[in-house]
Amino acid sequence: MTGIMISDNTHHLAIPALPGFLQRDLAECTRLPSLPTVAIRILEVAGYPDATLNDYAHAIEQDPALTLRLISLANSAFYARHHTEAHTCREAMSRLGLDATLAVVLSFSLWRDRQSEDQIQRVWGRSIVSALAARSLAEQLCPEQANFVFTAALLQDIGMLALLAAYPQDAQDLYTNTSFSHAQLSRNERKRFGCDHTSIGSWLAAKWGVPVSLAQAISTSHDEIGTQQETPLLCLRLSGPIADTWLSANPSQSLATLLRQLGPVVTTPAISLSDLLNNVQSQLPLLTHLFELTVPSSHDTEGLIIRAQQLLFQQTLSLNARLNAQQQELDDLQQRQTELEERSRRDPLTGLANRAWLEEQLHKWFEYCQAYDRTMSVVFIDLDHFKKLNDRFGHQTGDRVLERFGHVLGSLVREGDLAGRYGGEEFLIILPDESAKGAQRFAKRISKRLAETPMETFDGKPLFISVSIGIACLSDGAFSNGRELIDAADQSMYFIKRNGRGGISLYGH
Ligand code: GH3
Ligand code: MG
Ligand code: MG
Repeated sequence: MTGIMISDNTHHLAIPALPGFLQRDLAECTRLPSLPTVAIRILEVAGYPDATLNDYAHAIEQDPALTLRLISLANSAFYARHHTEAHTCREAMSRLGLDATLAVVLSFSLWRDRQSEDQIQRVWGRSIVSALAARSLAEQLCPEQANFVFTAALLQDIGMLALLAAYPQDAQDLYTNTSFSHAQLSRNERKRFGCDHTSIGSWLAAKWGVPVSLAQAISTSHDEIGTQQETPLLCLRLSGPIADTWLSANPSQSLATLLRQLGPVVTTPAISLSDLLNNVQSQLPLLTHLFELTVPSSHDTEGLIIRAQQLLFQQTLSLNARLNAQQQELDDLQQRQTELEERSRRDPLTGLANRAWLEEQLHKWFEYCQAYDRTMSVVFIDLDHFKKLNDRFGHQTGDRVLERFGHVLGSLVREGDLAGRYGGEEFLIILPDESAKGAQRFAKRISKRLAETPMETFDGKPLFISVSIGIACLSDGAFSNGRELIDAADQSMYFIKRNGRGGISLYGH
């Protein structure tokens, strides 16, 4: 596969090679849109640095039909800003300008063998509306390039005509479904042919020998619209989507969609949409007439813009509402999830951590302390003679004592410690980074508080409790997991139980 290298005085362009079979088939296809001798001659003239209008006129006059078209176009309402009529090719050309002349020559030449097939009509319809939209945009944004942009937009879909000529059946199949967007068409072309019509179009244009800048414009005409590209390219790239909107079965809806897609692009260089649509409106009948096309040439442009803006506004509102609702739902879900998680960690009676959470956290801290050579202590507390308390004062009183004791514990732990209810009347406190002595000071504070503060009153009398406390510190034994640390604290606690209760014992001390 070989690409084509084209260049003129100022530009060089390497046209990417087409897939081999395409190049071969296009080269052999006799129905391919082709440039008549006169157009080729004109392109040659365009190559001379000193070419005069007379040189062009001389080339064009070889084709009387073309000359007639040029003159009638120059005298048409759109171009006839002069009071005098153009009678000669030269007069027509000076009125149209070189770029427009070239556009007319190219488009009439290509249109010469027009066929009535729907697809070809549609391709030309889009090209012409695009060309008008592009020129109108360029008149707002880069007036000196308006004719160039017009020609590039007119030729941007020429690759589709080439495909229709070389592969009538496949191309018609590809283009039959009118509900496909233009971008979707291009994607389908790439699937079927390995490249899309912009590559074929610029390849074809390069073969004809059109100016390099024009071939280049065709090849990038369908690239993404951004705010970065040069203004003439922006006009060109906007022209296709605008034409699609104009030709859509539901123009206001599709204009609203286009406006949303473009967002900042249309506002960055301020484009007057109504000027643009009015321009297309006023020029389209002339061109559709010249090309004998059936293209919707009339829209209530102001109404179209207003409806599109309303739709856009409604869509934005409902989109925002949907997004807000979704965000709210997400927040609620997250909140519920957090609450559930929180609840699944808590002991309902005391509000402290439950056994499962205590064990999970202990496991984590144990691993962490082992890995980073830190220490930690656990404090195991068992309420003394709790069975008797229940028996004497009732289970409800027992519950309130547990609850109150839970609050006491909670108020005595520091941030970073974790106090929890390990079982019935057993409590466990994890003290990260705490030595046995530190844990002992903490345990003493608990005992002191219990000695000073009754946990309940019964028949007006204060009810004090005592607890047996066992402490185990990671530094005081060869513990291989958190479970063994709890067992050690539990053993120390039982040492107190066996020795009369109400005291503190340190494992290994
Ligand atoms: P010791 O001093 O040896 O620990 O004696 P104890 O009676 O405290 O120990 P034991 O293990 O014999 O009894 C624990 C009691 O705690 C038995 C049980 O009814 C009571 N208990 C466990 N959970 C709860 C609870 O949620 N509420 C109440 N009110 N009592 C509970
Ligand atoms: Mg017990
Ligand atoms: Mg007990």
